[in-house]
Amino acid sequence: MLFESVVGQQRAKQQLLQMWSESRLPHALLVLGNAGHGGLPIVLAFVQYLFCKNKQAHDACGTCDECNRIAKLEHPDVHISFPSIPPKPNTKAMSMHFMKEFREFIKQHPYGSTFEWLQHIQAENKQGNITAEECRQIIETLHLKSYEGKQKVQIIWRPEYLGKEGNILLKLIEEPPANTYIFLVAEQTEMILPTILSRTQTVKLSPIDVADIAVALTNNLSIDSHKASQIAQTCNGSYAEALSLAQHSQNNLFPEVKRFFNMVFTNNRLEISKFVEQWSKAGREEQKFFLQYIIQLLGQAIRLSYLPSQNAALPPEDATLVQKLIAKKMPNEILYEMVEQLAATSYNIERNAHGKTQLHAMCIKVALLANGLKLPQWN
Ligand SMILES: [Zn+2]
Repeated sequence: MLFESVVGQQRAKQQLLQMWSESRLPHALLVLGNAGHGGLPIVLAFVQYLFCKNKQAHDACGTCDECNRIAKLEHPDVHISFPSIPPKPNTKAMSMHFMKEFREFIKQHPYGSTFEWLQHIQAENKQGNITAEECRQIIETLHLKSYEGKQKVQIIWRPEYLGKEGNILLKLIEEPPANTYIFLVAEQTEMILPTILSRTQTVKLSPIDVADIAVALTNNLSIDSHKASQIAQTCNGSYAEALSLAQHSQNNLFPEVKRFFNMVFTNNRLEISKFVEQWSKAGREEQKFFLQYIIQLLGQAIRLSYLPSQNAALPPEDATLVQKLIAKKMPNEILYEMVEQLAATSYNIERNAHGKTQLHAMCIKVALLANGLKLPQWN
């Protein structure tokens, strides 16, 4: 993978390249970021950069022999460990049993989550693990000479899955063999042994910038720029989430969002019934995306009412709609209450609640709020 293919994360890329160019790269580095922010892609791009024979200032060449082998995860001096399951009863979970599947998975879903990975190998209800056996193998491998006489790299994807077995790796992480780099790609530090954390330097990833996600979506999926921008605004800085939204939502939802606001502000019950009837037939993911999109616009209206000078970088149609919401001068508590109603509906739909009932109740409540009426108290 090239840095160029890693979505956004300019600051982290710069930080890594600088560590390298200033000979400050630590022997154990923790790359920390939420799922979908690109921890594994950025580490794979950086490892490729380390090995590339024709590296440029900001990226690997992508064509040399080293680049090719690392891109396929087939370099003999680049090792990778990840959560896995016992391949058969009475065996131990080890990454080496799943390398073929892992290569396939990363090729198709470089931003895939650990959950998706474990589904890919049909872990079903089995818990993925990085086992004591795996840790011992890591130590053994890294103490062997490198195949090609240069550096050796060990990537550990999701050290959270080491649990207390991480203790086995402490000495290795503290004092790895010469010319060895260990990269830990993590999402939550709370689940990693403090003794490991204290022995690593950390590069933190931020949510990916909206503009970077929009550009990546238009380039990689050839969807139109307005749609890309809607998704980018809604996906919480996660490229994985953006891809999932793009996959589940083919249409430009803006006309429907406008329709929603018109019907709730006019409290048009007939239109609400029609709307709910149509939307209850949409897929769950599309329903959730639609709700998230509205939540995000309400959120913009709340923010801009506090900080009117802040530029939200919205597409023009969305910006106009947000301005219209602000012009209604509704108290922010009402906007917050609307957001809460929409978020609760999205949450319930995700948990298989009956979509039609949920949407209907939500539309009526938001319509009451929009018209300054009190919500009925049921209890
Ligand atoms: Zn290269």
